Amino acid sequence: MPDNKYDSIVIGAGAAGLMCAALAGARGRKVLLLDHSHKLAEKIRISGGGRCNFTNINTAPECYISNTPKFCISPLSRYTPKHFIELLNKYNITYHEKTLGQLFCDGSSEQIIELLDSLGNDSKVKRCMGVSILCVEKELSGFKVATSIGDFVSESVVIATGGLSIPQIGATGFGYNIARQFGHNIIKTDAALVPLALSPEELQYLSPLSGTSFFSSASINKTNFQENTLITHRGLSGPAILQISSYWSGGVAISLDMLPNMNITEELSANRSSNKLLENFLAQFFSMRLASSLCAMLQINKSISQLSKSDIHKISNFIHSFTIKPTGSLGYKKAEVTKGGVDCKELSSKSMMSNKVEGLFFIGEVVDVTGWLGGYNFQWAWASAFAAAQNI
Ligand SMILES: Cc1cc2nc3c(=O)[nH]c(=O)nc-3n(C[C@H](O)[C@H](O)[C@H](O)COP(=O)(O)OP(=O)(O)OC[C@H]3O[C@@H](n4cnc5c(N)ncnc54)[C@H](O)[C@@H]3O)c2cc1C
Repeated sequence: MPDNKYDSIVIGAGAAGLMCAALAGARGRKVLLLDHSHKLAEKIRISGGGRCNFTNINTAPECYISNTPKFCISPLSRYTPKHFIELLNKYNITYHEKTLGQLFCDGSSEQIIELLDSLGNDSKVKRCMGVSILCVEKELSGFKVATSIGDFVSESVVIATGGLSIPQIGATGFGYNIARQFGHNIIKTDAALVPLALSPEELQYLSPLSGTSFFSSASINKTNFQENTLITHRGLSGPAILQISSYWSGGVAISLDMLPNMNITEELSANRSSNKLLENFLAQFFSMRLASSLCAMLQINKSISQLSKSDIHKISNFIHSFTIKPTGSLGYKKAEVTKGGVDCKELSSKSMMSNKVEGLFFIGEVVDVTGWLGGYNFQWAWASAFAAAQNI
């Protein structure tokens, strides 16, 4: 085979691209992996606070957002968290469950990059970094990919260029542009798993609490997440807010239950004779700083025994149904993922190949499948990569 001719060209050496290229190479396919960045898999490197939350043992289709919710079932069922864990065991990478099924490396996320790197080397994937992709063209049989280091031809092309989040480390809209070029529909993209901004009025009383976090249930309609909420100087963050942000769109209110596992009315009623100040009572459940601020916001400076029925009603409403109306999100610069993307209705869930263009594949975050926080997005990257790797 001439030097510039490959069975498949994978564009994007991130989580999905590295995995797909290595698995296809292991099947004996001649694979070229291209990336415009000089550094390999930057998002893996910075993920999970540097420890990479590489999967979630509770992975299920319900943990993904998509305009075609059933699309992810097939890829996820053929490459499960167990498969990725087997790979880690083979490479002696130790890991632990942090919470809620989230698996992290004991060491660092570099271990995952090294694993994928050596898988690719073992299967003789040719990798070129720092390469600009000038155009991808369909030819009579296969594709021509013109790049800053020359032209390459292949039977198939896999687009694994991810979403728009964190442009500072190389995210681009390349995958969406290629999809549009070949006549694909793009489900509207937006920042997801992202902190939310509040209005100056709301920040006036919340920003002095910046850095405070509390266990909460954040909901929009029937969707809710019970995890920590963090107050920041610009608004709200923390896992509960990041999770609900993926379901949030402009103008929608979020309801926060600050004591989701308790009925504050019952607690206060059971302590009716107490002379404790309300703020000291609330400090059992929150930090003193937050308890004092809650009382200031409620404008109640009384002991429990002095509370009227309407005070208790007001406290309960405030604590269990605190309503916030974010003014926006902090955008792609701060988002962990991009929701929306290449319309799954136009892809095969068996192979990830385009239904419109023979030999063109889309995998990973560029596709309209967005996981919850907690390792679900990497699991989608591995699973969609596996599906494509069997078919290129
Ligand atoms: C801060 C942060 C922390 C995260 N932590 C976790 C976590 O712990 N667990 C989890 O499951 N998910 C996490 N995610 C999400 C996860 O990183 C992504 O969902 C995953 O990396 C998507 O994989 P991908 O291969 O589709 O895209 P990416 O990993 O983004 O890879 C895309 C690749 O394409 C390349 N590329 C882009 N444009 C071009 C172009 N024009 N030409 C050539 N190459 C191009 C990029 O350089 C990159 O190497 C995190 C994300 C962020 C931002």
